[in-house]
Amino acid sequence: MGIVVENVNKRFGDFVALDNINLEVKTGSLVALLGPSGSGKSTLLRLIAGLESPDGGKVFLTGKDATDQDVRDRNIGFVFQHYALFKHMTVRQNIGFGLEIRKQPKAKIADRVEELLELIQLKGLGNRYPSQLSGGQRQRVALARALAVEPTVLLLDEPFGALDAKVRKELRAWLRRLHDEVHVTSVFVTHDQEEAMEVADEIVVMNKGRIEQIGTPAQVYDNPATPFVMSFIGPVN
Ligand code: ADP
Ligand code: MG
Repeated sequence: MGIVVENVNKRFGDFVALDNINLEVKTGSLVALLGPSGSGKSTLLRLIAGLESPDGGKVFLTGKDATDQDVRDRNIGFVFQHYALFKHMTVRQNIGFGLEIRKQPKAKIADRVEELLELIQLKGLGNRYPSQLSGGQRQRVALARALAVEPTVLLLDEPFGALDAKVRKELRAWLRRLHDEVHVTSVFVTHDQEEAMEVADEIVVMNKGRIEQIGTPAQVYDNPATPFVMSFIGPVN
């Protein structure tokens, strides 16, 4: 089993950020957390990552109770909206960084980096520095860096949020194709309905710290479970 979130609650002071969340992300699938700003998407992602701990409930990763496990032991790949690449390192060095700190053999790192450069379709740009790349190319490198260590789980928090609409559209189609090749269990946070529809196998619609509906894009679109889902995602009339 990929990721299981069971009866999870999270408060910040008196404020309930997550209210009894239950969720299952099947191994190898790509699930989108979709909801307006402040609905608890990033908090849920951070809980899965181990960057926050729940006030109640459990998080299981690949069948094991990870609730109290340190973030460093969870083998998670992250990509955030403003996920800074190391400016003084080339694309190759950025992608290989996680393997370097894990003391992998040089030849193995070099092979893996080339494989990832091909995967993100930036084969010719390995010796460039981040400042010599476009925003979209930088996020592709960030994704390759996250994938380099073969994470059990890939977490993406509005990874294309800072890019312009045209590039964002290209990247979502690209991410979908990439996921079809790599099949890493992934959770993708977005407030953009179209993005969730196009990228995800399943959509988790969130509002005010609760899950309103979980379903395939078609299910959520055709049969919104609540008035909120209807207004947020459903057919406009
Ligand atoms: P989203 O990612 O859906 O925009 P977040 O998960 O970031 O939402 O935040 C959900 C709510 O929890 C927001 O109202 C936010 O202000 C609050 N919140 C998140 N993190 C903290 C924190 N560390 N301290 C206090 N409040 C927080
Ligand atoms: Mg957020």
